[in-house]
Amino acid sequence: RFITLEGLDGAGKSTHLAFIRDWLAERRIETVFTREPGGTPLGEKLRELLLDVDTEATLDTETLLMFAGRMEHIARVIEPALAAGRWLVSDRFTDATFAYQGGGRGVAAERIRVLEDWVQQGLQPDLTLLLDVPLSVSQARMAASRTLDRFEQEAADFHERVRAAYLARAAAEPARFAVIDASRDIASIQRDIATHLAALKER
Ligand code: C5P
Repeated sequence: RFITLEGLDGAGKSTHLAFIRDWLAERRIETVFTREPGGTPLGEKLRELLLDVDTEATLDTETLLMFAGRMEHIARVIEPALAAGRWLVSDRFTDATFAYQGGGRGVAAERIRVLEDWVQQGLQPDLTLLLDVPLSVSQARMAASRTLDRFEQEAADFHERVRAAYLARAAAEPARFAVIDASRDIASIQRDIATHLAALKER
């Protein structure tokens, strides 16, 4: 099973990832946890470049680098794990490119789709958990936490477009997506996540 976790920065991905880890471990489901950008030695180098506030890249270059890292990630981590019968949970995947480079930066979705087809050859997550929060929540959480990376330091309207693009993708693919209102209390969110994981386990 291939699960991806998506959402705005500050939506609570890290907290809920820890919950997912515990849920799977309790059921002795062998799982590989990984992330994008990143997930491989080369991918992590690309991540550093992509998140560095001093990096200058045209929009297309940024998009191509995301997919270069993804190609490596699929070939070396994702495909082997799935082939071995393991579950794989990725903290972000291609929906993030449609949301950030597409919705946020304005790269045409058709361009991203060409790269998606080329790099993924039909590979899609079985379940995508979209942690959805209004901007007021994500911005407040981000402000409270860490130093901001190249994407996080973008203005609010950028993040509004990212959120809208995520929700549009979820609406277009309701069978794959579970949209979770992540502005609620943690227990309610985790109850929802557990329901979706249990359903996937039974599939
Ligand atoms: O999830 P995490 O905070 O580790 O993501 C790192 C950064 O990369 C985030 O700021 C996210 O917005 C950005 N990102 C992006 N395009 C992607 C994937 C992640 O802009 N395709």
